[in-house]
Amino acid sequence: MIAALFRERGFEVTADLKDADAVVVNTCTVRQRAEDKAISQIGRLRKWKLERPERRVFIVGCAAEKLGSKKIKGQFPFVDEVVGAKSIDSVDAAVERKYPVSGNRYPVTTNSLPDTGYRSPVTAFVTAMRGCSLKCSYCVVPSVRGPAVCLPPEEILAEAGARAAAGAREIILLGQTVNAYAYAAPEGRVSFADLLERTAAVPGVRRVRFMSPHPLYFDDAFFRVFRGNPKIARYIHLPAQSGSDRILKAMRRGYTRAQYLDIIRKIRAAAPDAAVSTDFIVGYPGETEADFKESLSLVGESGVSFAYCFKYSPRNVGEGSVGEGSDPGGLTPTPPTPPAPLPPPEMEERLERLLAEVKKNSSDILNKRIGRIEEVLLETGEHGRTSANFVVRLEHNTGLAPGSLVRTEITGTRKNTLRGKLIP
Ligand code: SAH
Ligand code: SF4
Repeated sequence: MIAALFRERGFEVTADLKDADAVVVNTCTVRQRAEDKAISQIGRLRKWKLERPERRVFIVGCAAEKLGSKKIKGQFPFVDEVVGAKSIDSVDAAVERKYPVSGNRYPVTTNSLPDTGYRSPVTAFVTAMRGCSLKCSYCVVPSVRGPAVCLPPEEILAEAGARAAAGAREIILLGQTVNAYAYAAPEGRVSFADLLERTAAVPGVRRVRFMSPHPLYFDDAFFRVFRGNPKIARYIHLPAQSGSDRILKAMRRGYTRAQYLDIIRKIRAAAPDAAVSTDFIVGYPGETEADFKESLSLVGESGVSFAYCFKYSPRNVGEGSVGEGSDPGGLTPTPPTPPAPLPPPEMEERLERLLAEVKKNSSDILNKRIGRIEEVLLETGEHGRTSANFVVRLEHNTGLAPGSLVRTEITGTRKNTLRGKLIP
């Protein structure tokens, strides 16, 4: 969307900083490391700006929201515009301030937008919901993005349609609790299940994925669509965060280990060959060795094909402050002082043990796919993904265009990928 604002003004996207007249740094703050990276990225622009002072620097996104314009401009006086995540719609005005549109705008088509760089052009990310209304204790998202807001279905479907018309074949619907999607349209409520069906029906769309669902929001309507509509990918990324009930409670995740496993059972009942992946946080304050072992054992018990594992990063989100009313009577007991964080070497050690467990399970799961016939959505002439999100490398270049669906026989594995043979 931001690239489009620049295109309208006759700019082109360049991969090389030295050719650029303007830079937009889109920042993340979900973990401290992401924020630190953003800061050092901005610092590196000082010299670039000095070389040609008419160059412009825009800082946008969640770290911009958290740090604020004053702090960023104080530390980096060469920054021209700061637009935080909550006011991202005003990025339009910020670009206009620096580059006023004179006369006609250049036409922008989805075709002329840059590849996001995350996935091939066969895949398009489409936002269904912004922000989050939950209050997980460790998470900065609600405070930098605000409460959950569902976009109107017609807007989501128009975006999916435009992306499909430009060649996308797989749509990934985005939201922090995307399966909580609900929209009160004049003709009636549009549920997440409805949104999935409608997105799958968009001409040109062959697969629909979504990210991230939350265990609390799966309903029967979802499982009906998931079971019945083959265009809904047989893959669900379902963050667990921990396998220990004690830690899940401290994190305010709203489910137990047993409830998490129950959702996985329902996913498998609806689609036996579905793959599930997850996220874990290790070293949450107070996590004992016994708690950690419950995360380790959840990997095997849930049968996840993959897991992103993160070291706990303190985000200073003000324990329990979000959305809590005043307490004039003083009825709420003072919260106990939070447990001390895990020392870094132990944190590192737990992360490595968890990663090793995930890797071992992943390769078992990959090996089980050998011999199967899989439909692969090609991203290049020689590789693509199965509906369960496994990458398949073909033995020979098919010469087919990206976006083609082909039948393959899985012949082996290599590292994290499957090898396959085209079935003519
Ligand atoms: N809305 C999604 C997650 C969004 S954040 C959900 O609730 O499932 C993406 C991932 O970053 C999370 O799943 C979590 O594993 C990780 N994460 C978020 N805050 C973190 C923190 N303070 N420290 C370490 N990891 C964190
Ligand atoms: Fe953060 Fe929890 Fe919302 Fe996910 S559901 S974005 S972890 S508050």
